[in-house]
Amino acid sequence: MAFQNKLFIGGEFVDADAGTTIDVHNPHDGTLLTKIAEAREADVDRAVKAAQAAFPAWSNMAAMDRGRLLLKLADAIEDHADEFARLEALDTGHPLKDTTLLDVPRTAVTFRYFGGMADKAQGTVPPVEQGFLNYVTREPVGVVGQIVPWNFPIMFTSWKLGPALAAGNTVVMKPSELVPLSTLRLCELINDVGFPPGVVNVVTGYGHTAGARIAEHPDIAKVSFTGSTAVGKGIVEASAGNLKRVQLELGGKGANVVFDDADLTAAVNGSAFAIFHNQGQACIAGSRLLLHEAIAEEFTERFVALAKSIKLGDPLAPGTEMGPLTSPTHRDRVLSYVKIAIDEGGEVLCGGKAPDDPTLADGCYVEPTVVRAALRDRVCQEEVFGPFVTITTFSDEAEAMELINGTDYGLGGGLWTTDLQRAHRVAAGFRSGMVWINCYKRVNPGSPFGGVGQSGYGREMGFEAMHDYTEAKSVWINVDAQLPAWYPRT
Ligand code: NAD
Repeated sequence: MAFQNKLFIGGEFVDADAGTTIDVHNPHDGTLLTKIAEAREADVDRAVKAAQAAFPAWSNMAAMDRGRLLLKLADAIEDHADEFARLEALDTGHPLKDTTLLDVPRTAVTFRYFGGMADKAQGTVPPVEQGFLNYVTREPVGVVGQIVPWNFPIMFTSWKLGPALAAGNTVVMKPSELVPLSTLRLCELINDVGFPPGVVNVVTGYGHTAGARIAEHPDIAKVSFTGSTAVGKGIVEASAGNLKRVQLELGGKGANVVFDDADLTAAVNGSAFAIFHNQGQACIAGSRLLLHEAIAEEFTERFVALAKSIKLGDPLAPGTEMGPLTSPTHRDRVLSYVKIAIDEGGEVLCGGKAPDDPTLADGCYVEPTVVRAALRDRVCQEEVFGPFVTITTFSDEAEAMELINGTDYGLGGGLWTTDLQRAHRVAAGFRSGMVWINCYKRVNPGSPFGGVGQSGYGREMGFEAMHDYTEAKSVWINVDAQLPAWYPRT
């Protein structure tokens, strides 16, 4: 398979200024897939210049025509769906079934949603005092920097590019240096469908160089960042130089609560999806299972049995349900939490190690891991970001509420109950950006996505995202007003 491996600046694929590269590996067996160009500060500066040059024409283009290009991009992704699904599975370790059924279709759908929205986002006409007309337009902010993590690379391109481009901004995007291949392939389609050069620029580089330059760049008007809370805080500091706008999608420690009246079969299956989908590498993963004591034993028995039955293997092999984690460093970090859990008195109910299968020995595999732990434990407070779930029990709704809101994070969480009143009461009590009732991890381009507290601020998706990529301009017209007497007379 041939891979695009250069930077995408001004509509062209170019080498990095310094000529250096970054190795990209297959997480299934550690083999080298390709070497990508390593963007550094000078390359980011070049990309920003290209985005600045493209901005006047792009922001003045009829919104319907911007939308038309996004719609064409959605179609082109669907035309190449199988290729994207394989590429994403190869680079990230997501099972092919998931990239085929979730990552790639969701990417196309999100571009299509924002393509349709480009000419629907409107200004307002606020009612003001007599004699004046006031109207408010929404203008693009300018050049936008977008920094993307490694857990859903192709899907996050659509979450970030979709609203930014629909609103008339131009973009400098930095994918994760670990998994850049689907984003670079997307750039080829961006050219093919006819986006003007410089509207989208992609710089593949490390966070502390290319990413940091985006965060501090004086000509970038807004940064949209998805990644860890620690890096997000650094971005806020770096943004102060030119007071750029910042939107942050950070970590999570999703509570997934099962009440004693829940449909247990649905809850067991849904909770396994909540944590084990994408090997648990999701900010919204249901990583803290909170079980009512009356059903805890039965639920745990069934859940552990399901976890043990999950088929690990080559992401490209049919039948694989869970692939490798995305990098060896990350696998080691996830496994380090097993020792942390045991040291703090936790009990490992299954997993907690790499699989014994010798065919997986060179990959970044971790068995589905279930640990009994208490709220104060580090494994219940810190984001593990792997197939690692804690179980904690509660005796009543008040205690459940304390556990739900017992971390600094506030991204998403879920609850399982057949009691309608309780469902709404508990959902209202969640301190988080998203709540799922009798389901988990639902996302849709129309529904705002984001968190509170240490999970960040601002929203992706929906009208909120579009709004966040614009500035309001308020225009006043004197249509029939007598100016006040204290105005200067000449
Ligand atoms: P990370 O913060 O290390 O990296 C994210 C991106 O930021 C990468 O592109 C990286 O190169 C870049 N980066 C790293 N250091 C930087 C710096 N100093 N300046 C600018 N950019 C820098 O996170 P990760 O390890 O790639 O992703 C995992 C983390 O991301 C987890 O904590 C997870 O919860 C979080 N995440 C959050 C969401 C969300 O929507 N809230 C989604 C996915 C991942």
